[in-house]
Amino acid sequence: MAARWLRLDVGRLFAVGAELGSGRRAYSTSQAFAEVLRLPSKQLTKLVFPLQELERHFVPGSRPDLHLKIFDPSLDDIARAESVFTASSRNRIEYLSSAVRLDHAPDLRRPEVCFIGRSNVGKSSLIKALFSLAPEVEVRVSKKPGHTKKMNFFKVGKYFTLVDMPGYGYRAPEDFVDMVETYLKERKNLMRTFLLVDSVVGIQKTDNIAIEMCEEFALPYVMVLTKIDKSSKGHLLKQVLQIQKFVDTKTQGCFPQLFPVSAVTYSGIHLLKCFIANITGNLKTNGFQFS
Ligand code: GDP
Repeated sequence: MAARWLRLDVGRLFAVGAELGSGRRAYSTSQAFAEVLRLPSKQLTKLVFPLQELERHFVPGSRPDLHLKIFDPSLDDIARAESVFTASSRNRIEYLSSAVRLDHAPDLRRPEVCFIGRSNVGKSSLIKALFSLAPEVEVRVSKKPGHTKKMNFFKVGKYFTLVDMPGYGYRAPEDFVDMVETYLKERKNLMRTFLLVDSVVGIQKTDNIAIEMCEEFALPYVMVLTKIDKSSKGHLLKQVLQIQKFVDTKTQGCFPQLFPVSAVTYSGIHLLKCFIANITGNLKTNGFQFS
């Protein structure tokens, strides 16, 4: 496996940037990712494919059924996805507007993805990490209790819209469920919902509200495990296996592969960007079919 990564031709990656045709910014995207590629293979795996890195810790012959390879892009694919998330004059990545009700939401034709999770799960930090190549984007955070929480819409060039949904939990406004429920149920161009779960504590009662909503509306959704830098390997592995078992046995609409991430070390962020680029129809990773 490591050998395949080591064989990757960095020169080819620079060519990918040029092919993408957005001039200097595309080149610098590839340059940034080329730095990732210069990492020793163990560190590269940990950063780009955190699930595979956990695989090393399984007792040989007893490998639990983690769905590691359903979405298995090449590093070239991941480099291409970086360009989607890189702001430039040709690829404007910006905050568009906020809404408290679906009928106040911007009427956009582009594919949309949304991020939901309970307060403090690390949603703003994750969205900031996804937009790290668009440093001018301001991810608005409203944490004051009682402060109205809104859906925030971000335009990612001509590619897609990313929606930051208000965090849920005991301080969520009473109309929260109505707002989120209506959006999830009725938003026509919603391609996928990313449901964030804190990997340190696993699935909590409040997370079940969102899981049940996604299941009830038969939405395709993906579980993203946040803050993976905070746990020991052993604890993280235990949580990942528990959550995987939950996804396999208790859900219908959840994508079988988990996406562990850290907004601090950026582990898993590149892979998640590549998945989003595929889901929104802006990239085609060989062998990956999505409905
Ligand atoms: P939100 O309420 O879901 O938007 O959560 P925030 O993004 O504001 O994060 C809540 C807290 O968790 C903050 O103190 C963050 O610094 C911290 N946090 C978020 N993501 C990570 C992460 O990946 N690793 C670590 N160690 N801390 C994180």
